[in-house]
Amino acid sequence: MGPDGLHVGGDDRRPGGVVKQPNCRGHDPEIFYERARWPEAKTICEDCPLLLECRATFQDDPWPFAGGMTPNQRVTWSRSTKARVFGRCVRCGFRFQEAPRAGRPRMYCSTECRQAAYAAGETQTKRQPLAKISIDTELEAVSLWHQGYGLKRAAKALGISESSVRRIFDGHGLKRTQAERDAISGQAGAMAAQARADVGRMVRKLLAEGQQSPQEIALLANCAVNTVYKIRKGMAA
Ligand code: SF4
Repeated sequence: MGPDGLHVGGDDRRPGGVVKQPNCRGHDPEIFYERARWPEAKTICEDCPLLLECRATFQDDPWPFAGGMTPNQRVTWSRSTKARVFGRCVRCGFRFQEAPRAGRPRMYCSTECRQAAYAAGETQTKRQPLAKISIDTELEAVSLWHQGYGLKRAAKALGISESSVRRIFDGHGLKRTQAERDAISGQAGAMAAQARADVGRMVRKLLAEGQQSPQEIALLANCAVNTVYKIRKGMAA
């Protein structure tokens, strides 16, 4: 049995008679909890068929040795971009690591699970239900749309994916014509130009007063110091 008895293998965890047994089954669990015995644990994990599932399961746990790694090593591993991409097998529910790639997501954790699913006549087309979006987020997204936000900006403001925002917009029938989109981007451009003009005016006024250093002016006008230097050069010319 693996640490904490999580990995037991057997038909109960793998429908269709698929069995994947962890290498640590039958070993003393203390091997994984006593730091001095971790080299021994590492040898046991080395060619375990459940290595990645185990590592993913224990990735946030501060103890014990699992998935062929110490807790600290697992933290580093889970922070790497590749390690953060996980899938869940539609047949047995195991978590597995998936290499980031475009296209159809991987649905089964192993060949055994895929074959068992085909043998049982299951035709899975979707891996897992879409993420739930809270009603507050949904209302916020609708309000952002009315303020002229597009997919990208709304997703960034709400901290959710663009596809989730698209689902909300589609669900509420929020669509813009090309002319409306052009008008919004035109407005955004005009607003940016207006903001630049305001900054320029303020910097010129402060430079003319001659009371502050360029650094202080940059702070007051909320712009880069280089901008202040450029405007000063333009005024001197
Ligand atoms: S990776 Fe190691 S700890 Fe995890 S199930 Fe396999 S042998 Fe057990």
